[in-house]
Amino acid sequence: MTNVTNLDTAEISSLSSTIQDYLSLIYVMERDREPVVGSRLAELLGVTPPTVTNTLKRMTRDGLITMSKDGTHLTEAGWKAARVVMRRHMLMEWMMVRTLPWSQLHSEAHQLEHAISSMTETALMEQLGRPQTCPHGNPLPGCDEFVKDWIPLTKISPGETVTIRRIHELAEENAQLLGYLETKHIIPGVRVAVTEILPFNQTITVEVEGQPVTLGNAVAGYIFVEIQ
Ligand SMILES: [Zn+2]
Ligand SMILES: [Zn+2]
Repeated sequence: MTNVTNLDTAEISSLSSTIQDYLSLIYVMERDREPVVGSRLAELLGVTPPTVTNTLKRMTRDGLITMSKDGTHLTEAGWKAARVVMRRHMLMEWMMVRTLPWSQLHSEAHQLEHAISSMTETALMEQLGRPQTCPHGNPLPGCDEFVKDWIPLTKISPGETVTIRRIHELAEENAQLLGYLETKHIIPGVRVAVTEILPFNQTITVEVEGQPVTLGNAVAGYIFVEIQ
């Protein structure tokens, strides 16, 4: 049994990579005030619901989460560990930003983040100039304020031009989607014009660098923009 009651950053590496993956997803759901549901975790992680149930039981035993009729929630130790996991993941993404295509940063960082020491984390943070977001525009723990004015693309009216700022963490889990967005230049910093919204079709069409791109509302809801 992992004793996480007084977890310090050096001890995070002792948590298995599976637990670290769960921690980061639960962190995002809790932060966004979304209920932490087993079936949703199973879908995002590509595992079966019984596997999720077993892992959640293990995390409860280890003092990272609580499960009751009020739902599944991170404990204080769970929040603390999750923040470290998220920060290390995002710093790894930045570390590889010049080496790999944007759409592959997340999955590669995912392979490496589990092994970082707190010494490397601190050094990277300084060297990277204390970034407030990851290369997908998602806030580092403690930097939520930085992204608070960015709104989902689904809230924009036809005719408006906006700047893409963020592709939500839960969309980062979908490698195919990231690859598609990168091919179509729907990445942070790019200006797009909303040209058509078809509520009956649940689609929104934007013009990116002169090309029309049609997105489903589910995907558009994960894309956050700044009105400028
Ligand atoms: Zn990521
Ligand atoms: Zn990212």
